[in-house]
Amino acid sequence: MRPFEYRRAEGVEQAGALALAGGRLIAGGTNLLDLMKLQVETPAQLVDVNRLPLREIEPLADGGLRIGALVSNSACAADPRVRAGWPLLARAILAGATFQLRNKATTAGNLCQRTRCHYFYNPDQPCNKRAPGSGCGALGGFNRIHAILGASDQCIATYPGDMAVALAALDAAVVIAAPDGSQRSVPVRGFHRLPGDTPEKDNVLEPGEVILAVTLPPPAGGTQLYRKVRERSSYAFALVSVAAAVRMEGGRIAQASLAFGALAHRPWRDPRVDALLTGARPGDALFAEAADLLLEGAQGRGHNDFKIPLTRRTLVAVLREATGTQPGDQA
Ligand code: SF4
Repeated sequence: MRPFEYRRAEGVEQAGALALAGGRLIAGGTNLLDLMKLQVETPAQLVDVNRLPLREIEPLADGGLRIGALVSNSACAADPRVRAGWPLLARAILAGATFQLRNKATTAGNLCQRTRCHYFYNPDQPCNKRAPGSGCGALGGFNRIHAILGASDQCIATYPGDMAVALAALDAAVVIAAPDGSQRSVPVRGFHRLPGDTPEKDNVLEPGEVILAVTLPPPAGGTQLYRKVRERSSYAFALVSVAAAVRMEGGRIAQASLAFGALAHRPWRDPRVDALLTGARPGDALFAEAADLLLEGAQGRGHNDFKIPLTRRTLVAVLREATGTQPGDQA
């Protein structure tokens, strides 16, 4: 690890000013410290934000919930309001990492975690995300964990988290403070970027911006599921994950909101799939059509070809469970 200066921010404005001047914000540090040890990231200054007053979970006037940026993943998943109204969020958080990491990891840090592409973590390998213009080791290399949707010829990395996939399905938003004191709210589904020609940018945060909170809309009810398929049953990143919030009425799907993890550079939402399902009678033919639509244009890179049929099977299984249908059921 290279030497760095340590500063402690006493307020959001100070944190933003230090970040604007090149400081790297740190809270739990569960990803950043690993990156620094490997010299993937070498910030000259770390700005500790743990004293900022962003640790509350508060109800909103519209029935939603505001989760402070520094709320630990453990605290969020254990909160009775979260478990009652947005169980999908609690399930996704508990599907990730370990007890110890969830105790340290924060809401904002989880959103901003970086890809787990092996080449990104090895400074001896080419990687356009770590060193723009150096190439992409994964394109012609070992790409079992890489993207099948939304990738570019510059980068095929995936966003690795679980929490943000649930937040995307729940139509949550990220509240962000700018260095000039103004605030903006960005839907989680638009917070992370696709790689395009600038894979070094993971999300839409601008220099000096500080995440204040995540807001959830009022509970939509229905069945909420998070299914994560991975190499082993704990402490592993997803190969495919599906977050689903589905409400049934009179034998039809009254509302469907789906998001997918580990398929792309961001939590993947396809509004066409939600629209296809909403209002329809559930059954295998419908689910197959939804999978076809989702995977239209999906591209395997060799080692990750299996993700295409795995995504299909996982989606169908989640939809069967969410709608109470059995294999072979037809609308
Ligand atoms: Fe780097 Fe992206 Fe290529 Fe991985 S996939 S080596 S993160 S450019």
